[in-house]
Formats: sequence, structure tokens, C-alpha cells
Amino acid sequence: MHLSDPTLLKSQCLIDGRWLGLGTDSIRNPATGSELALVPRFGAAEATMAVEAAQRAFKPWAAKTGKERAAVLRRWFDLIVANKEDLAIIMTSEQGKPLAEARGEVDYAASFVEFYAEEAKRIYGETIPSHRADARIVVLKQPIGVIAAITPWNFPAAMITRKVSPALAVGCTAVVKPAPETPLTALALGVLAERAGLPPGVLNLITGDAPSIGEVMCTHPAVRFVGFTGSTDVGKLLMRQAASGVKKVGLELGGNAPFIVFDDADLDAAVTGAMLSKFRNMGQTCVCANRIYAQDSIYEAFVAKLAKEVGKLQIGNGLDAGVTQGPLINERALAKVERHVADALQNGGRLLAGGRRHVRGGTFFEPTLIADAAAGMLVAREETFGPVASVFRFRDENEVIALANATQYGLAAYFFARDLGRVFRVAEALEYGMVGINSGIMATELAPFGGVKESGIGREGSRHGAEEFVELKYLLLAGM
Ligand code: ADP
Repeated sequence: MHLSDPTLLKSQCLIDGRWLGLGTDSIRNPATGSELALVPRFGAAEATMAVEAAQRAFKPWAAKTGKERAAVLRRWFDLIVANKEDLAIIMTSEQGKPLAEARGEVDYAASFVEFYAEEAKRIYGETIPSHRADARIVVLKQPIGVIAAITPWNFPAAMITRKVSPALAVGCTAVVKPAPETPLTALALGVLAERAGLPPGVLNLITGDAPSIGEVMCTHPAVRFVGFTGSTDVGKLLMRQAASGVKKVGLELGGNAPFIVFDDADLDAAVTGAMLSKFRNMGQTCVCANRIYAQDSIYEAFVAKLAKEVGKLQIGNGLDAGVTQGPLINERALAKVERHVADALQNGGRLLAGGRRHVRGGTFFEPTLIADAAAGMLVAREETFGPVASVFRFRDENEVIALANATQYGLAAYFFARDLGRVFRVAEALEYGMVGINSGIMATELAPFGGVKESGIGREGSRHGAEEFVELKYLLLAGM
């Protein structure tokens, strides 16, 4: 890894402003298998230390003015932007995504820090016209306290800043456990936070045994909020653990995104949207199109155009120029993709591209297109989380809305249509937290990201993302 600033490559954890621990767990580049670094395998004892450091740091940090906290966050933002290239190289090396996407993620991650630096000054309370002439009602917004965050490997930077920057902005302090596959991006963000002048203990980063660290985060009385992005099963486990202390949770869990192309859609735009939505990050995002529905009359034309685009994808090491598809994160991810493809082909799916492990070996998989997918297949019921586009045929609006909603998930949905009545009917009928209309991509720090049903609780981004981390306190001032 050639970094202009090698001090960004940390292999220790950040607890109470100190870098601690001996490297034991090997972090590998999924494109080459080579070892990048060793990070500590911390557990319950160190997680408790980190929570208690955050607890000590809480009162002084919360006591600062919003403007003071904003200044520190703004410096962090500036440093992330200034170190974008190094952060992107670290991210691609440990995660596999193409460098251009890693740069894009650094920008996206930084945008949350910038947005909440601005928002820190605008955590407005409320006065409410009183029910009594001798009294006034005032509502204060106060930081909830120490927050814990557990993040996934698919967006190693953004899933951290999207949780931590609103929390820090409103006056909370944080303990973060990044994914075991991608801790190096997280630790580099920690170095920059320190350089920005974040006081010791305000942001703690800990790597190691997920269940032991997670249990401390969910049960330590000082933690008041547990934020998580990851699988639905782990989300449910954390929610159960957090219930014992009645902690607030923010959960961004799995999805099973429908991507619907109606017969009045701009087909080229729909194909571009489907490619972006499906193949970004090798299909490893919770908002990736999972079930692509194309209406009867445009079905074959859409599938043919999509096949042409899938054929243009360039597979390789994400650090190499021109590569658009890197490796999958690990063998388990690869095995799931293989299982989904085999199941679809056994049950009548038509293979139009890919379908196998790539000749490069490792965890590379060929970008795959399967037409004539059907409701009973694994590709319809589960999130494939890989580079497999499965296309289903549908007849009419009511049928496709029912199909799209026939899942326990409700994160992102997409559709392409031009008829205005249809646009509103479908947007309102889709049981999803986010709906992209004539766009395959919709993430921005300005809008609330989150799901309904088993896809999660709470929202990240926008002013709503900051509201998650404040408690309302009602003051009744009587005797006037
Ligand atoms: P994936 O299967 O894609 O890795 P996970 O939900 O297992 O998704 O992982 C997301 C995050 O949750 C990671 O940081 C992982 O270490 C963490 N994690 C996994 N299991 C647990 C657990 N039992 N308690 C706390 N965190 C966990």
C-alpha cells in the first residue's frame, strides 16, 4: 500500500485518546490475499474501558457549545477531504471495491461530518403555548449520552461517520466497533479525528471479538444508544440484548430491493439505473437492486440492453485503472452467490451472462445476469449481496406492487416510469423507507436513510439523523 502519509495506517485501537493493543488478527486484501496489517483482538474488558472513557468524556463534551463542537467536526471533515486519496487506497486494499468507488465513499463519509458540523449549531428546542396562564412549557433537546456503534465492511467509512458525526454534533460521545474485515479505514478516521482536536474519549475505536464487545455495548448502563448496520439476525440479537437496559437502538438491516421497470419508462435510463444499483460495490450493498421486475412489453428489450452493459464490466484488483468490479469480501459471500445462481438455474432461470467463479480465482465472481427469475427462487426471497442481476417478468401495476411488497424487508425500492399518476400511486404503495424514482442511486447526507419492517428502525442522515441522538426534556415553569 503506497500512502503519502503512512501514519494513517494504524494497527492499534483508540481508547481514551491512547492507541492500545498488540496486532493479532490479520487483515487481508481480498483481491490478492496479502496481509495488510494485524489489529488487536480486544474483548469485554477493553470494551468496558472504552465505554467508561466515553462516559468520562461525555459531560465536558456535552457542555461545549454547539459552535465549539462544530469547529472540531469541521476540522475533521477538512482532514478527511485532504486525505481522501490515502483513505481510498486503504479502503480498496482491505475491502476490494474499485478505487473510484472508494474515493466516492470517502466523499460520502465526509459529507456527513460536514453536514452535522453545520447542524451542531441548530439543535433547536421548542416552546409550546401553555395550558395554564401561570405557566410556560419549554422543551430542551439534550444529548442521549454515550452511544455505541457496530458497523459493516461494505461501507467501511460512511457507516461510521453517518452514525458518529450526528452523535458527536449533539454532544454525545461514542464507542465504535468496525467490521473485522475493514478496521483500517476506521482507524485511519480515528487518526484524523485526533488531529482535528477531538478530545480523548469522545471517539473510541475498538477491534476484536464481536459478540463480547457487542454484549458490553448493549448491556453497560452508561451506553444509551446502540447503532448498528449489518445483517438482520445480528440486529435482532443486539435489539434483544439492548432491551435489558431499555436502550434506544438504531438499526439499518438487510434489504431485498425491488427495481421495477414499467412499460412507459425511459429504457436506457432504466438500464443505467439498474447497473448502478445492482453492480456498485460488486452488489454488496443493502440497497442494491435484488429483484429486477420488467413489464411484459419491454421485457426482452430491457434484458437485451442489460446483458450488453453487464458484458462491459471490468473485473480485477480495485487499485488497477479501469476496474469496475473487485472481489467479493470473503469465501462465505462467494458461496452464497453460487448457491443463489445454482438454485435459480435449477428452477428455470435463463443464464445470459457470467454464472461462475471468475478465472482470477480468490473471491472473484463473474458479473451475472439471469432472466426469467421467479418468486420461489432464493434470488427472490433472500438478499444475494453479490453481482447477480435477476430479472422477473410482470404484467401490470397491481401485480408488481404485490410482488415488490411480498417480503419482510422494506429498505430501498426503485422504479422507472413516466406517467405521473402511476409514479404517485406506486411510490405511495411501496412499503419501503426509501424509493428511488427514475434513479438507481439515492444516498445523500441530506435525506433520511432507513428502512421499515425488518429492515430497521430509525433514520441516518438529514436533520432526522441528529434527532435520534437527543432526548426531549419537558420543563413546566409555573408560578408566574
Ligand atoms: P456480515 O454477515 O455481512 O458480516 P454481520 O451482521 O455479521 O454482517 O456484521 C456486521 C457487524 O456486526 C460487524 O461489525 C460484525 O463484527 C458485527 N457482529 C457480528 N456478530 C455480532 C454479535 N454477535 N454481536 C455484536 N456484533 C456482531
